[in-house]
Parts: sequence; structure tokens; C-alpha cells
Amino acid sequence: MPPANGLTPPPNPLPQGEGELERIIKDRIAAAGPISVADYMELALTHPEFGYYMRRDPLGAQGDFTTSPEISQIFGELAGLWLARQWEVMGKPKAALIELGPGRGTLMADALRASKKINGFHDAISVHLVEKSPVLKQKQWHTLAGKHNRIEWHETLDDLPDMPWLLIANEFFDALPIRQFVYQKDAWHERMVGVEDDHLAFVIPAKAGIQLPFPLDSGQRLDNDAIVEHCQPALSITTRIASHLSAQGGAALVIDYGYAQGKGDTLQAMHRHSYHDTLKNPGEADLTAHVDFAALAQAALQAGAKTFGPEPQGRFLMKIGAGVRVQKLCAQADSEQSAALISGLERLASPDKMGDLFKVMAIAAADHPKPEGF
Ligand code: SAH
Repeated sequence: MPPANGLTPPPNPLPQGEGELERIIKDRIAAAGPISVADYMELALTHPEFGYYMRRDPLGAQGDFTTSPEISQIFGELAGLWLARQWEVMGKPKAALIELGPGRGTLMADALRASKKINGFHDAISVHLVEKSPVLKQKQWHTLAGKHNRIEWHETLDDLPDMPWLLIANEFFDALPIRQFVYQKDAWHERMVGVEDDHLAFVIPAKAGIQLPFPLDSGQRLDNDAIVEHCQPALSITTRIASHLSAQGGAALVIDYGYAQGKGDTLQAMHRHSYHDTLKNPGEADLTAHVDFAALAQAALQAGAKTFGPEPQGRFLMKIGAGVRVQKLCAQADSEQSAALISGLERLASPDKMGDLFKVMAIAAADHPKPEGF
């Protein structure tokens, strides 16, 4: 065990179980009819006992997918320096450094290491991790032991401290449950998950069309079978962040794969680094949907904050000094480490790798100056 150092150990991981979640979902459908895609996604990812995130570390070569902080240390380092810079711009107040969905804790560890040399920063902050998964909390606790003397875990954003926030969320919003709506026969219908021939299947309830619970983008084409998505939890969390930032100050960085405009079915499942049937083995594969940055920006604006971007990840990283940082690190590295640093940067920043698909959006109080990278 690493030294506790002010950290409280999170609870132990839950026991394993195979296929139980599919049974639970089918029983629920048998009892009460088809469930929404959002209910399906929420059960598959965060069912307290059998949800995907609740009982495994999904990241890395042995897992199902890899994220930017796991690819290169410069990702978390540059993010930490960006957040520390916003703190300086704000006049160096006492602040909460927050990460939503911190995975293995790698981004936060790299951010804390890089920002250590910013005078007064570590003394001014406490660190707050919003995480639902007991397994990942445990990993984060190990990764972060000794990296800062005030680290706390939270299940939701509700009990985060009442002070300026410096917040980051990488690949967090894509895990939040979406509802899907299909345009058929001149009307909208909610796409649901039902059971056909004892298999989970997408179904459209045979009832009259419904009113969409959100306004449609102007210019949206209404082709037959067109699908639009709506992520209420993402909007509520963005509103929560934006109202806090406009009242107390601070800045947030949201990084995810997503779109600024344009739609369709973006629900996808990943298992062992390959695409997987979204309805097969719920709880055993990662389920995500692309993030609608335009909708998040609108929610932030309505809550009195302003937004910057979304900027393609590659361009953002290069603008905040990714090239220079890799050069600096390479100067003190052996040839194998240098090659890894260069190929890591390429994966993060090349338009044909993660550089274009991933987007970066900042949210800040209305009087916050335009941050670096936008
Ligand atoms: N940010 C990390 C991990 C991304 S995976 C990285 O870049 O490597 C998604 C993370 O969000 C995991 O830590 C997962 O457990 C967490 N998560 C997913 N849904 C959540 C929810 N509803 N509330 C809190 N955390 C959640």
C-alpha cells in the first residue's frame, strides 16, 4: 500500500459476473416493455453491480480502448499547465482542480507533475475526482498517492467545493446516456431497446409520432430513418459547470470525440480495441456516443458563461506548445524514449489519427480572457 498522505482509500472492487446484466435488462423489458437507449446505456455502463465501468479497468492494451493520457504524458502535462495558466490569469485564488471521469488517474498525475513548478499553484488548490467506478477509484488512489496532499473523490458534481473551479473532462461526456429519435412517416419516434427472438433489438414503438423534447438545428434534413440524439445528462452537467464558473470564476476544458454540427446514429461499442455490436453482451463492452458540442456550448451560454472552440485536438495541442514540449523531453531522453514521444504526439495530433476527430472546448466566466489554444 502506498502512504495514505491525506487520501482516503475508496471501497474495494465488486465481484465478477457474466451475462447477468443481459438477463436483468430482458426481465425488465418483459415486465414493463422496451426501454430507451439512454436507460440501456446507463444500465450497460453504470449498473451498480454489473455495469461495464463498475467492475473493470477498461483502458490500455489489455483492455478495450486507449485514451490520450494513456498514449503520451504530454497530454496531461499540457492540460495541467493550461489549467494553471487560467489560475494565474484569475489572480491566483484558492481553487478546486477537478477531473470528471479520471480513468486510471494518469492525466491528473501528469498534470500535477508538470504544474508543480508553477509558483504557489499546488498550495492554492485541492484536487477533486468525480468517479463512479470503484475499480477505477482504486487505480486512481494508487496512481495519485503522494502527488498532492489534498485529494478527494466524489460520485457526482453535487458536493464539489464552493470556490473557483479548474476542471477537465477527457472522454467523460461520451459515456453519458443518450436518447435517440428516428424520423419515419413524417413523424418522430423514440428508438427503444426491446427483445426479438430472445435477443435485444432496436425497436420503434408502434404509436403515433411524438414531439422532440429539444429544438432541432435549423437546416437539419428530415430524411426518412434520420436519427437524432439527445444527451440530457451532458446538458445538465454543462449547465452546472457553466453556472458555477460564472458565479465563482474558473475554467473548464472538455475534450472528446464529437461533432460541432450534423448528426446521425453515433452510438458505438468497443471491445478489445474493435467495434462491437451495441446490443451484444451489455456490461462487457464500452458504449459511447459522440458529443454534441454545439448543444453543450448553447447550454453553457444560457447559464451565463462563454465558450471557446470546439477546436480540433491536434491544432489545440500544437498551439499550446506540444511540439516544443516533445522537443524538450527528447533532448533528455534516449533514442527509444524519443521515438515513443514523437509517435505519441503524432497519434494525438495528426488529423488522420486523433487530431481531428477529437475536439477541445473551453468554458469560462463571461469576463475570462480568451485562453491559449483557441
Ligand atoms: N478520462 C480518462 C478515462 C476515460 S473513460 C482518460 O482519458 O483516460 C471514462 C471515465 O468516466 C471512467 O473513469 C469512468 O468510470 C467514468 N465515468 C463514466 N460514467 C460516469 C458517470 N456517470 N459518473 C462518473 N464517472 C463516470
